[in-house]
Amino acid sequence: MDVLQRANELFLDVYNRFPVELDKGKGAYLYDKSGRCYLDFLSGIAVNALGYGHPAIIEAIQNQAYRNLHLSNFFIQDIQVEFASKLLSLTPFSKLFLTNSGTEAIEGLLKLVKKWGKQNNKKEIISFEGSFHGRSLGALSITNQEKYQKNFLPLLSDIVVVPFNQPEKLRDAISDKTAAVFYEGITGEGGVRPVSDEVYEVLSELRKRYTFLLIADEIQTGAGRTGRFYYFEHKTVVPDAIASAKGLGGGLPLGAFLVSKSLENIFDKGEHGTTYGGNPLACATGLAAINIISENMFLKNVEKQGTYFKSKLYDIANEFSDIALDVRGEGLMLGLEVREHSKEIMSEAFNQGLIFNIAGENTLRFIPPLIINETLVDEACEKLRMTFKKLFR
Ligand code: PLP
Repeated sequence: MDVLQRANELFLDVYNRFPVELDKGKGAYLYDKSGRCYLDFLSGIAVNALGYGHPAIIEAIQNQAYRNLHLSNFFIQDIQVEFASKLLSLTPFSKLFLTNSGTEAIEGLLKLVKKWGKQNNKKEIISFEGSFHGRSLGALSITNQEKYQKNFLPLLSDIVVVPFNQPEKLRDAISDKTAAVFYEGITGEGGVRPVSDEVYEVLSELRKRYTFLLIADEIQTGAGRTGRFYYFEHKTVVPDAIASAKGLGGGLPLGAFLVSKSLENIFDKGEHGTTYGGNPLACATGLAAINIISENMFLKNVEKQGTYFKSKLYDIANEFSDIALDVRGEGLMLGLEVREHSKEIMSEAFNQGLIFNIAGENTLRFIPPLIINETLVDEACEKLRMTFKKLFR
């Protein structure tokens, strides 16, 4: 019996898996057990920012493994301090809390918003239709997609859902009852859709009139993905707090929420905590990763590859204009929306040796390792073109 069949017998059936048993990776390539090679433009869902087998990550693991793998947050650990001070130095934020995952970072921020809201007599939380912030009950309450929420209602109360990129609807929804607005600068699971400038204008205008917390979910857009360390750096609106994860840990589970000065004393001792959050091994790989990613040259290359890749996606969209609808995104977080058949495209591309997945209804989402170059972009686009030709010509 093969391992995929065995997995079906063992695990709750919640994942749509690729029909392959992967073995190892090198750079931007993955290899299956038979030695077949795939160009990985999914990178563990935006986690493997430095690709596979990066020497700095391997060295960090080796060094930390000799010291300790876990101590608990009853002890302060030098590697956590180094990681935190490097990360904060890249941002305008003043303090942070380390977590295991993106969802855990969002949960912490929801608690922060609740407490701040009680202190300021505000309790509504605004989030956008089509957003994705995680699947625990709190995070799911602000993940406005019916398919994820419908069997788990009721969720948190006082959540106000606003249609995506409709600034006037947002204006109507914000009031002196608003405690916070959660947003993804570019929706990830929702289909690679950037928040419009008009929405930022409403946010910044109403923020002056009503005091509320602006919270950016940078879990997918962060850690260099869009050519800046955090996506909000492309914009003039600076959030009060952000959630970060995925690429932040260099391949190990590490997340964080970072807060501005005015929020740094919000929690009392014992009010929040975690066993694994800030695990020293994850902080070691995270530090190695963010040291590299935050280099100016590295981020410039993400921007350059993103611009090149986007122009090639436009070429494909023009060539197959009967199928392709739109190209969106920033840096190396790009989407090609198609009219239909997105799943067939994804599986045929996989047969051609290119891995990516679908976001939203019909958007091919590309989130490759940030170490890619033009040759790899060309290879990916050629495989995509072959896929379209095979399916539609
Ligand atoms: N927020 C965004 C924007 C995400 O893309 C994800 C995961 O895909 C999450 C939150 C949840 O993060 P995690 O899966 O690490 O818990």
